[in-house]
Amino acid sequence: MLFNEVGWNFDNTYSKLPDSFISKTSPIPVKSPELTIFNYNLAEELGLNFSSIKKDDLSKLFSGNSLPEGSKSIAQAYAGHQFGHFTMLGDGRAVLMGEHVSKNNERFDIQFKGSGQTPFSRNGDGRAALGPMLREYIISEAMHSLNIPTTRSLAVVKTGEDVIRENILQGAILTRVASSHLRVGTFQYVAMRNNENELRTLIDYTINRHYPNIKKSKNQAIDLLKVLIELQIDLVVNWMRVGFIHGVMNTDNMSISGETIDYGPCAFMDAYDPQTVFSSIDELGRYAYFNQPSITKWNLARFAECLIPLIDPKKEKAIEIATKVINSFDKSYETKWINMMRDKLGLFGQDQKDQILIIDLLTWMHKNKADYTNTFCFLMDENFQHSKIYNDENFLIWKERWKERLKLNNNTPEKYLSLMKSVNPLVIPRNHKVEEVLESANNNDLSPLKKLIKVLEKPYEKTKENIDYQSPAPSSEKKYKTFCGT
Ligand code: AMP
Ligand code: MG
Repeated sequence: MLFNEVGWNFDNTYSKLPDSFISKTSPIPVKSPELTIFNYNLAEELGLNFSSIKKDDLSKLFSGNSLPEGSKSIAQAYAGHQFGHFTMLGDGRAVLMGEHVSKNNERFDIQFKGSGQTPFSRNGDGRAALGPMLREYIISEAMHSLNIPTTRSLAVVKTGEDVIRENILQGAILTRVASSHLRVGTFQYVAMRNNENELRTLIDYTINRHYPNIKKSKNQAIDLLKVLIELQIDLVVNWMRVGFIHGVMNTDNMSISGETIDYGPCAFMDAYDPQTVFSSIDELGRYAYFNQPSITKWNLARFAECLIPLIDPKKEKAIEIATKVINSFDKSYETKWINMMRDKLGLFGQDQKDQILIIDLLTWMHKNKADYTNTFCFLMDENFQHSKIYNDENFLIWKERWKERLKLNNNTPEKYLSLMKSVNPLVIPRNHKVEEVLESANNNDLSPLKKLIKVLEKPYEKTKENIDYQSPAPSSEKKYKTFCGT
């Protein structure tokens, strides 16, 4: 195989960090790798050209059976609060193949997920099943097209081996691309080792890699905290915008780069209900739709705790400074959230009554079980369905208030419609559609999967193909549940 002509350009910096941060380990070869899906668009964005590589060789490469020259595979150590409980974790079923630097000098982690046991596997088999890996592929790529920061998916390869969960499943490996895999949990891992040098090393690494503009700052730790707070607020506001529920917002699943990471039991909300939870293991609704902002803040507070020794030599002073910064979360979130909702309604400027107008719409949607995505489509006149629900008297009264408010915009309907169209998707990965295509893929029919992926590439555009993907699941279907699939 000639991998040089592909354009790999590895520069593996994480593997040079102290031994305690990593474990040098390789993907465990699999029996008969077979490429299921490959993201040629993403490859091109990375400056990689696989057009002359045969499918067989792609299968070997993206199963980890044969690594390209320059790769230096490692598993990363981290810890994390899972559902509020602190645990030592680490890449138990993932291996970083290397850091690829693109022609624009952007650095990407290329990681295999499901690549076999590592020293961090605890009792796990290090493997992943086809369904969850394709699910991550579909949803992460959909998030990217929705203009939401996210890790990306380059390939899924079937391993030809069984994975034993509740049932026997087909094994698979996902190749994930991320601007890094630094997590809040990485900081927690280093902080709990009580070694200030290591903590300094991690902060320096993070700032060099992601935030070089705070290199010269007087208090790097506090500035890093401030940057991450704003990035995570932007991220969770985006999730709220499209009705995305991450499902497992443990601190190890919160990225320091501000990307959505670790697609497990995540799903999109159909009917608007702030308490929506899909994950079967989230019995108390800790990660429900409307809890996502407060959990983000909670996770950021855990991040702040790790930085305490570097914020101020006096612990109490450091805690006081960090607490103040963490408490800036609420105001900033509120402002960004209301501005996002204004955009969804095409409202320019600010009016005192905006908040109540927005809350009244959400309350109406909740009471009437209106579909979150399609309600905004209806307001943009993009609703294919003309659901009877929108003849409801209370909705019509609300709509009149909205129309009055639009007059304050002082500009043309084209302007507000184009604002609305830029933030309100016409299509999202509907749960029943995702399940449908995964089932076909499990039975070796990949065409529904490929069609869905294609449709999700243009979520804001009205196309003939989109129409079939706009309906929520028929109400006869029982409550949708997702599983971690680990
Ligand atoms: P996740 O739920 O994917 O965020 O994973 C949480 C932790 O469990 C991470 O440390 C994973 O590496 C680990 N893990 C999940 N599934 C497996 C598995 N099948 N084998 C080993 N470790 C796993
Ligand atoms: Mg995780």
